[in-house]
Amino acid sequence: MITKILIANRGEIAVRIIRSCREMGIRTVAVFSDADRKSLHVRYADEAVHIGPSPSTESYLVKEKIIKAAKVTGADAIHPGYGFLSENAEFAELVRNEGIIFIGPSAESIRLMGDKISARRIMTKAGVPVVPGTRRKITDDDKALKVIKRIGYPVIIKASAGGGGKGMRLVYKESESLKALKSARSEAKASFGDDAVYIEKYLTSPHHIEFQVLADRHGNIIHLCERECSIQRRHQKIVEETPSPVMTEELRKEMGEKAIAAARSVNYEGAGTIEFLVDDNLNYYFLEMNTRLQVEHPITESVTGVDLVKEQIRIASGEKLAYRQEDIYQDGHAIECRIYAEDPENNFMPSPGIIKKITEPMGLGVRTDGYVYEGYEIPVHYDPMISKLITWAKTRNEAITRMQRSLGEYYIMGIRTSIDFLKRIMEIPEFVNGQYDTHFIDNHRKKLFGPCDDVPEIEDMAMIVAFMEFMENSNSKKNGFTSQSVSNWKIQNRKKNLTRQ
Ligand code: ADP
Repeated sequence: MITKILIANRGEIAVRIIRSCREMGIRTVAVFSDADRKSLHVRYADEAVHIGPSPSTESYLVKEKIIKAAKVTGADAIHPGYGFLSENAEFAELVRNEGIIFIGPSAESIRLMGDKISARRIMTKAGVPVVPGTRRKITDDDKALKVIKRIGYPVIIKASAGGGGKGMRLVYKESESLKALKSARSEAKASFGDDAVYIEKYLTSPHHIEFQVLADRHGNIIHLCERECSIQRRHQKIVEETPSPVMTEELRKEMGEKAIAAARSVNYEGAGTIEFLVDDNLNYYFLEMNTRLQVEHPITESVTGVDLVKEQIRIASGEKLAYRQEDIYQDGHAIECRIYAEDPENNFMPSPGIIKKITEPMGLGVRTDGYVYEGYEIPVHYDPMISKLITWAKTRNEAITRMQRSLGEYYIMGIRTSIDFLKRIMEIPEFVNGQYDTHFIDNHRKKLFGPCDDVPEIEDMAMIVAFMEFMENSNSKKNGFTSQSVSNWKIQNRKKNLTRQ
């Protein structure tokens, strides 16, 4: 029986995990760095332990500090969330050696899937198709150049120990090969301490589609269908939805079975995700496995009704899965938009700072998983994602209009955010029609960045603003209010909407 869980993480995911724990009657311990003293996860947890200075290398990434905090507070389990130590095999091992439950798979599964080349080998053996490419690590430039030629352009060079889009380089022609190889290797060395790379054929217009799996320690494994994650910037997801607009019932069944086979091949336990690339002809190829909870897990929860964090905890307690494959189906449609403190107009530069005002969307089918509040200062030290906005509806169209409405209600003052950028994505016909691949953002740069084509001329805008102010004033007089009683941001929003339509 797990009665107290330490969450080895921060921000929105720590808050998310605390919520499920509270519903299960499990006590929680938060850990926090100097910069996170006022973070919501610290306020929400039953107990909180300070683990050091702000840089994550001195706090959230220090295994010994986390384990000590768990021992001091008597936590019987550790949930790693995503990022930080969540896919660190050594950490999982250390935690278990201390007699504490690690909420996740075995160190061995993490190790096998963490090395992308070993994962490709295991998948091939398990009958799961992989993206065509090398089977071994390459550390020699001459050999790499030969391999690139053999695979044929375009190719993608990837760090063997990679993640987060780091150490990845695209090569379209021979003259670019050596330079790309050298920069991929030096980035890999700097980010992961390992400069080994491997080479894959670059698929020209793929979809990124992943399958959620749950596996207990009694040999039961199920999948919870797919998530379409092709809307990406710099190879990083920004919008996800389920079901995928290109998925068929037949393909779902087949890919779901392959995902289960992939998990089984490494004796997987817990929640995991098998990522695939899918081409125009619906051929699919294994990309990698994430041996943890994903950022985008809420859309799966919305359509299946399964609380994935609760299932992780139950599995870690040794319980059998409460669901069989036939119990799982997708009800309706869900979309997630990741809200970042960053400036899309300035190459997505992080924009930390103090939140002066915030109004979050609400209403039927709307969920926000976040951790910021009015007056909160977003630290410079961590990932700039501040929340995830998830909408659910019976149909895809309604989920989109609900997302458009919710993004319109989302108001954050004091920092730059990706909210307006996401609003533009939601209005592009190819997104609305579900006709997009991983190049969506590059293909729609004109509409996504810079001023809108249909922004009225300056004089028109001045007239519109003057007219709106006149209307606001006359309405408020009619109602017996002063013009001050009309919320200023509402006026601002309306002005913005007028210029955008
Ligand atoms: P990371 O683990 O660094 O995030 P992934 O291997 O998961 O890297 O790939 C991230 C994204 O990069 C994919 O979702 C896809 O958009 C793109 N990508 C990766 N490999 C290929 C490939 N072989 N062909 C086309 N696109 C690719």
